[in-house]
Amino acid sequence: MDADVAIVGAGIVGVATAYKLLEAGRSVVLIDRKGIAEETSRGNAGAFAFSDIMPLATRDMLAKLPRWLSDPLGPLTIRPEYLPQITPWLLRFWRAGWPDHVGAGIRAQAALMRVARREMDALVASAGLGAMVCSDGVLELYESEAELRAAGRELTAKTTEGIEHRQVRGEELAELQPGLSPRLVAATFIPKWQTVTDPYDFATAIGAAAIGRGAIFRKAAVARVRPVNGAIVLDLTDGTAVNARDVVIAGGAWSKALTAPLGDAIPLDTERGYNTTLPPGAFDLRRQLVFGGHGFVVTPLATGIRVGGAVELGGLNLRPNFARARAMLQKAAMMMPGLKTIGGKQWMGFRPSLPDSLPAIGRSRASPHIVYAFGHGHLGLTQSAGTGRLVAELITGAPPSLDLAPFSPQRF
Ligand SMILES: Cc1cc2nc3c(=O)[nH]c(=O)nc-3n(C[C@H](O)[C@H](O)[C@H](O)COP(=O)(O)OP(=O)(O)OC[C@H]3O[C@@H](n4cnc5c(N)ncnc54)[C@H](O)[C@@H]3O)c2cc1C
Repeated sequence: MDADVAIVGAGIVGVATAYKLLEAGRSVVLIDRKGIAEETSRGNAGAFAFSDIMPLATRDMLAKLPRWLSDPLGPLTIRPEYLPQITPWLLRFWRAGWPDHVGAGIRAQAALMRVARREMDALVASAGLGAMVCSDGVLELYESEAELRAAGRELTAKTTEGIEHRQVRGEELAELQPGLSPRLVAATFIPKWQTVTDPYDFATAIGAAAIGRGAIFRKAAVARVRPVNGAIVLDLTDGTAVNARDVVIAGGAWSKALTAPLGDAIPLDTERGYNTTLPPGAFDLRRQLVFGGHGFVVTPLATGIRVGGAVELGGLNLRPNFARARAMLQKAAMMMPGLKTIGGKQWMGFRPSLPDSLPAIGRSRASPHIVYAFGHGHLGLTQSAGTGRLVAELITGAPPSLDLAPFSPQRF
């Protein structure tokens, strides 16, 4: 056997899973074709969004769809050439927004978030990464009373789940974030929201901590995973193979290429997101700001000010459309007069997304020794440590921290 546990994918989910498996007493080989955190985990908005428990598809969101879709640079776009491929995913997404599904989705997400918070706190403490976590809270900003009222259902769900939040306006809002446009009339302040100093630095630090505890990193592309005589064989594209006792597939948006041949038809697709990272000092930014009506966030990082978000349904292969990043920057300048918009660096990343906004965490149909850990959509950084813990429990046979049925890869 070449490996005890082999993890395919060294994004934030892969490295956090490696760390949790090492803590559980297993040894780990991490395999990635690019390096540690070189894909989606590199350039995200850096939030621990433990209070984001609403599925993306809700009645309120579906009602906004026609307006959003009519703006080619708006918060949500479907690339026309990708429409035929994404249609089955969209139908499932629409179905996930029916009230009977939404309630169950919120409960499952909230349960996962409780584990995610507990496990992230433990990982940060154990790996000594406390200095990389900022506990400044977040402001979710509204341009009208109607927009605030429209957020009511989401705020009720937060209250039900015991998530601390309060409405702020006027002087209090100006104190929490000076320099905002007067068009922003109110905000929800979530004081316990946290962000990291930089998502790439954070993920690579977890990777380094895992390697420090004995994990081996191997740069290689996995072509196929197959169970053979009690072992799991990973065929690499260079013609060699790795034999492992257990395998975790944490390949983010690319995981389907490995799971489909194993007989698991999982409707994984990607929601592409864009951003621009401006130089530090581009604005006197006190904490993360969320402009929900426009689908973007502004995050203070040690490495600069990151403006971005949005969703583009365009698969893994179409060329990026950076006009989307520019459009968000322009909107940010409108909301934050004084924002210096020059000298930015643009980026696009591939959120690994399932239509019900829940990840796939569970065993493959092909073998109990192949475990899936992908599909975290907008929340992969947030849920990485929790996912790692759940995967470690599956692999070691420890009692699960929560009911995994809502996350079953076979639920579709
Ligand atoms: C604009 C934007 C903002 C975001 N903001 C946040 C946020 O604030 N908070 C949050 O929690 N989440 C956020 N997200 C989501 C988050 O970034 C993702 O959910 C997360 O990065 C997914 O991590 P991952 O490890 O599953 O995937 P990735 O980081 O994509 O890692 C997968 C890895 O697998 C490797 N791989 C795939 N297939 C193979 C193969 N066959 N062989 C070898 N290697 C392979 C890839 O090279 C890659 O390194 C954001 C995403 C975007 C796009």
